[in-house]
Amino acid sequence: MSDDILRQYLSFYRDLGVKTVNRRDAPEAPSVEPASPPGVFPVPEPILSPLPGLHPTDDTLAGIREDIGDCKRCRLGEGRKKIVFGSGNEQARLVFVGEGPGADEDEQGLPFVGRAGQLLTQMIEGTARKEGIPLSRPDVYICNVVKCRPPENRTPLPDEMETCGQFLYRQLMTIRPRAICALGSTAIKALLGTKEGVTRLRGNWQKWRDIPVMVTYHPSYLLRPYNQNAKKEAWEDLKKVLHYVYD
Ligand code: URA
Repeated sequence: MSDDILRQYLSFYRDLGVKTVNRRDAPEAPSVEPASPPGVFPVPEPILSPLPGLHPTDDTLAGIREDIGDCKRCRLGEGRKKIVFGSGNEQARLVFVGEGPGADEDEQGLPFVGRAGQLLTQMIEGTARKEGIPLSRPDVYICNVVKCRPPENRTPLPDEMETCGQFLYRQLMTIRPRAICALGSTAIKALLGTKEGVTRLRGNWQKWRDIPVMVTYHPSYLLRPYNQNAKKEAWEDLKKVLHYVYD
């Protein structure tokens, strides 16, 4: 493997949040006559574990769902009812990324179908209508950082995000939308790798790889009565995204 390819692999895995790469023991050297002069031993090439393709060029959402299977890769697999993979237009120009399924989503196997989901639908369709953009919810794609409901709706833990994040990244790479809208701090952490909060990042474009990311409040946060000011800001963020993507 050339240094260049190796560098690409390592930076790909670093972007996924992988911090260590295991090396298999070097196999025993084949018993061939040493080409080097006596007393000089050639340094063997390090043998790296074979790594999967950077991103299978023929990846499809159906293939990614198949790879997830009846997932038990992390503890969230134990308590979930249904895996919530994602829904919407597979060629969407805009993808919304939330945190993880709640009770309603876990029952139905679909993202954002509870109260927060109804608000998200209103936000998308209401803003689009007001701005004269012909768009309804099925035109976009909606998914989450983790695909299984965390117990008591707790925030997903870093190792759960890391394990499930690989599937989110593949979904995004397969859809390749014009923009991503990150809903709340878990989506921010997963996509931007920062602990900065929504308030600091919202309203300005960020980037996931080469795709523009708009950060905004999670709809569950907007459902709380004392966060009405944030609602106005979320509408502004959405307006920006919709015009960027659909104008
Ligand atoms: N909250 C999320 O982050 N995702 C859902 O699918 C539902 C609620």
